Amino acid sequence: MKFAIESITKNSGRLGQLRIREGGPELRTPLLMQTTKGGSIPWLSADVFESHVSQKPQVLQFTLSTMDQMAEALAQWNSGDRGVSDYVGFPGHLNVLLLRDPCETTPSGGNDRDIQPLFTRRGRESLTPERYMEMVASIKPDIYQGLCDADTNAESAKKRVQKSVDRTEKFMHYIYEQRGKVPSTLLAPIVGGYNTFARTQSIKHAREQPAGSYGGYILEGFHTNGLTATTVDTDKLLPIVEHCVKQLEEDKPRLLPGAFTPLTILELIAQGMDIFDTSYAYCAALNFKALTFCFVQAGEKQVPFLDVTDDANKENFSPLLKTCSCLTCQKHTRAYLHHLYKTNELLGPILLMVHNLHHYMAFFETIRETVAKDKMPELMELVRKQNGDAQVDYSIAANTKVITKATMGKGFAAAAM
Ligand SMILES: [Zn+2]
Repeated sequence: MKFAIESITKNSGRLGQLRIREGGPELRTPLLMQTTKGGSIPWLSADVFESHVSQKPQVLQFTLSTMDQMAEALAQWNSGDRGVSDYVGFPGHLNVLLLRDPCETTPSGGNDRDIQPLFTRRGRESLTPERYMEMVASIKPDIYQGLCDADTNAESAKKRVQKSVDRTEKFMHYIYEQRGKVPSTLLAPIVGGYNTFARTQSIKHAREQPAGSYGGYILEGFHTNGLTATTVDTDKLLPIVEHCVKQLEEDKPRLLPGAFTPLTILELIAQGMDIFDTSYAYCAALNFKALTFCFVQAGEKQVPFLDVTDDANKENFSPLLKTCSCLTCQKHTRAYLHHLYKTNELLGPILLMVHNLHHYMAFFETIRETVAKDKMPELMELVRKQNGDAQVDYSIAANTKVITKATMGKGFAAAAM
């Protein structure tokens, strides 16, 4: 993996070029990875994605918590040249393997000195570092994260945070030792909740490793995934991220998984974070929300979301978003989407996800242009207020209206927890 910084600006963060595979495409950062569940982009087939969302090479974000049962089959499949992206029907696309699914709240507990819990659809499993490296060797992702205890958030006690750092060091001791046995690039995990001392200790452990031990960083332990990432308090998050950034090696990409709000994403990019994922677009769709926030130019006042199940859309024959060029907005009305949801048609979430991904990916295009021009403060102001007077609320609350089971995520198996 190669990462080159193109420019660093004072107020807008940095632009970079990332080449994950030799001979592969050069990707630009800030980069948006495609969140997947069980190797699939939620609700969309590879065909629908490539025909109606994007034909460009993507970085698929795989999660062990939704793919653990594939490891055995992949050990066979990977014996040739084909990789895990081929296996799941996205040949040629790149991939990053994470432990936890950023789309669902990760249950707390089950951590131990020697094991890390893995919450899957079948219940909780216990991962030892040995087992984890066996699975990585079977899946052979392009990039994988180091094993870590990230079960912390802003409420975690100091003692709990310290444990997460100590356990992660212990896991990583084994992983650094074994990493030469897999061809994939390792991301060093940085944990330590909201504690500056603990974060420094975690970074120190990574930086003590010999040069070339890892290709980038993954910062975890700020939230527990799912909707919790949409409500993180940036007054607490940003100072601790700033504290970390100062100590990280500059020429390595920094990944921050989770459904952070669009405004928080901009603030994190301004601080020097490089790689994010589409879980926010997914979490919105799961809760019946179309993303309608404006990020291009000053115009009329906008709202961040539109709830497609809202009865106000029953006879509204305009598209979700007038300015959007996606299939959903070009061909269908709000009233039709409302009807699809009310009649349990699976096409409803498919069309909503096409729009949300299209909108969110366009947002990242704008972000890269904005960083290049060093105009992040202007973009932040637009995203923050949406041409109105007050800050808009981008957090997502769980929608308790059960419209249809087909539209709901599968979540985790409750029984074994
Ligand atoms: Zn659209």
